[in-house]
Amino acid sequence: MDMFCRQCEQVTQGSGCVKMGTCGKSPEASNLQDLLVYALEGIAVYGKMARELGIKDKAVDRFLTEGLFATVTNVNFDPPRLEEMVRKAHAVKEQVKSSFLKAYREKEGKDFDGQLPKVVNWKPADTKNGLLEQSQAIGILSNPGLEEDNQSLRELLLYNLKGMAAYADHALLLGQENEMVNSFFCKGLAALTDETLTTCS
Ligand code: SF4
Repeated sequence: MDMFCRQCEQVTQGSGCVKMGTCGKSPEASNLQDLLVYALEGIAVYGKMARELGIKDKAVDRFLTEGLFATVTNVNFDPPRLEEMVRKAHAVKEQVKSSFLKAYREKEGKDFDGQLPKVVNWKPADTKNGLLEQSQAIGILSNPGLEEDNQSLRELLLYNLKGMAAYADHALLLGQENEMVNSFFCKGLAALTDETLTTCS
């Protein structure tokens, strides 16, 4: 199975690791990492809206941090652990979704009926092979119509979020966290789901 990763300076021939990472990352780990980022985006869509209603959940913030950090170069190349995180991400998304929908109903006196990106409806396949198949339909190469500058800007945003997570995760281990950082994880990941951003203007 092929992979596509170009997130670090060790990238093969300066363009992309497609068979095996120069860093040693396997295609299986790479594709599960892509799927983990996708699942985190679903959490972030609800997490951002929940924050706008004043709902914050430290466990969710920490999961976003740990999930993003797990996809940084040389951090986690363990497919079983990555699979576990992908499945947990779906459970966390359902939890945040439920909190948001409840808060919205209480505030607005009606059910939420806004349009949301398709990522919020994603569910993990039952098997690891199923997850790996799902991973082929997501990621930057799954949208060939995306204008080049926009593609690059999205990747830059994602890599910066991963970099932020590396420091945030270490800060967490020292008992420190920052609301502005946690809030931006939601905002930035949710921005990556905006399918209307298809041209650069
Ligand atoms: S993280 Fe690994 S697989 Fe990705 S570009 Fe860097 S060396 Fe290649």
